[in-house]
Amino acid sequence: MAHTCHAFECTKAVKPEMFMCHFHWLRVPQSLRKRIWALYRPGQCDDKNISAGYARTAKDAIIAVAKLDGKTVPENDPCLTLYDACIGTSTQPSMVAQVKLRFDAAKDAVFTEHAELLRKL
Ligand SMILES: [Zn+2]
Repeated sequence: MAHTCHAFECTKAVKPEMFMCHFHWLRVPQSLRKRIWALYRPGQCDDKNISAGYARTAKDAIIAVAKLDGKTVPENDPCLTLYDACIGTSTQPSMVAQVKLRFDAAKDAVFTEHAELLRKL
């Protein structure tokens, strides 16, 4: 899967494990850079199983770098909204939480079905 720099309006291709191209990565404030490394999990960009903490930090980094570039990231930017979906809200749980809820519901359904079948035997 093609992976590009996460900086606003940057289309430079980078390795999946790289958050931004070299130029933009060096513009990320050091404290955020450290947090991104601490919260990063290999493969998370492909399976979209991104922790809320990482998503929040990534969002802050993108906004900080855009500011240094003299740009403003619109609230509805697809990259930011993707991170928002990973963070989730009280009414709209994160994608990871939603998958877990569906998995648990499916597990319960199978269990109920089996219990029903056993009762009929
Ligand atoms: Zn870049």
